[in-house]
Order: sequence, then C-alpha cells, then structure tokens
Amino acid sequence: MSAESFPNGGGGPVVDAVIRVIQENAAVLSEIDGAIGDGDHGINMGKGVTICAERLAGAPFDFSQGLQTLGNVLLGEIGGAMGPLYGTFFREMAKASIGRETIDSLAFAGMLEKGLNGVVTLGGAKVGDKTLVDTLLPAQRAFAVAVESGKPFADALSALAAAAEAGKESTRDLTARVGRSSRLGERSRGLLDAGAVSCCLILTAMARSMRQLLGAPPD
Ligand code: ADP
Ligand code: MG
Repeated sequence: MSAESFPNGGGGPVVDAVIRVIQENAAVLSEIDGAIGDGDHGINMGKGVTICAERLAGAPFDFSQGLQTLGNVLLGEIGGAMGPLYGTFFREMAKASIGRETIDSLAFAGMLEKGLNGVVTLGGAKVGDKTLVDTLLPAQRAFAVAVESGKPFADALSALAAAAEAGKESTRDLTARVGRSSRLGERSRGLLDAGAVSCCLILTAMARSMRQLLGAPPD
C-alpha cells in the first residue's frame, strides 16, 4: 500500500526531477524542434531549468515554492513560445498548492486543472493542433478520471503518465495548426511535436518522482 499524500515540504525532489529530465533531454528536444520548427526548444527549456536550479540552490524549498520559481523563471526570462506557456503552467500549479500542508490526489488534480487552463487560455491551442496540449489535456483528464473513480493516488499518477505517452505519440500523425511549425502545413505530418515531447517528459518525471514520495514501486 502506498501513501495517499505527501507533505508539500517534501515535494522539492519533484521539481528537481523536472529540471533534470529537461537538462538530460535538451539536445533531443532541439533536434525534434529542428525538424518542423526552429530547433531552439531544448535550448530554451534547458536554459530555463538551469537558471531555476541556480535560484533554488542552497536553501530548502517545498513543492509549491519550487514550482513557483520554475514558473517565474520561464515566464520572465525565457523567450519562444514555451517560456510563457510553461511559465504559466508551473505558476498556476504553484498558486493552486501554496499554503497546503500536504498534497493528495484531489489537490494535485486541482493543480493540473489550473495549469492546463492557464496554458489553454494563453495559447488557445486545442487537442489536435499538434502542440503540448495534445499531451497535457489527455494526461490531466486521465488523472481526474482515475481520482474520481476512487483509484489510489499512485495509480492515478500511472494513468497520467500513460496518457501523456499516448498523447505525445498522437502528435506524429497530426498537421500543425498552431505555432511556428504550422507554417509547414502538411509537411509537419509524420514527426513528433517538440512541445508534446517535452510535456510528456515533464509529466512522466513528475509522476515517477511523486510515486516515489508516496512509497509506490517504480512503474
Ligand atoms: P518557438 O515556437 O517560439 O520556437 P519553442 O521551440 O520553445 O518555441 O516551442 C515550440 C513548441 O511550442 C511547439 O512544439 C508546440 O508544442 C508549442 N506551442 C507553440 N504554440 C503553442 C500554443 N499556442 N499553445 C500551446 N503550445 C504551443
Ligand atoms: Mg522553436
């Protein structure tokens, strides 16, 4: 049996996991973006998470504070489409959790919903437009459905990760309708969307790290 919540104060490693997975995959992300975009996605994201790591170094931080710093850095200091979009995502998640002692599945469901709403309100992308929304929306929905049907927190996180993977893969067969790659039209078909890939990396890293905090075995 895994736990049904973890302390907000113990959630720093979840933010560390996001930072690490982006740093490790920055080159791959830029390569994917290079195929149908301008090849800067990994550079932008890598720069953002590294600045965030520097800001967070040296003092303890909780889950909400880590997410807030990540959001502030991405929103304020990183350009491209992704700085503002991911900046908003993490800031909205932070706002929805600040002041909470513990993070349970309902709290995290609320955080994901706020994060997604922020991204959609700002960027206006819908499922099928070949963006990170194709990863984020189905993942958020899968988590919400799992929680509503009474699944343990750790199982709902596995559902989130599986839906993120499937959503990312769905972008391969889509034609880009939003963002830089939409200029390619039909030629964007057959390749993954860089933002959908980074979003999948972020969500699966979060899910893995949170499952660990809950004492659940690796998926
Ligand atoms: P840029 O397009 O400015 O070079 P990045 O390379 O950092 O920015 O990010 C590109 C990614 O941004 C795309 O792969 C796509 O997933 C995402 N994206 C672009 N526009 C939007 C939008 N309006 N809503 C959601 N995601 C978007
Ligand atoms: Mg780009």
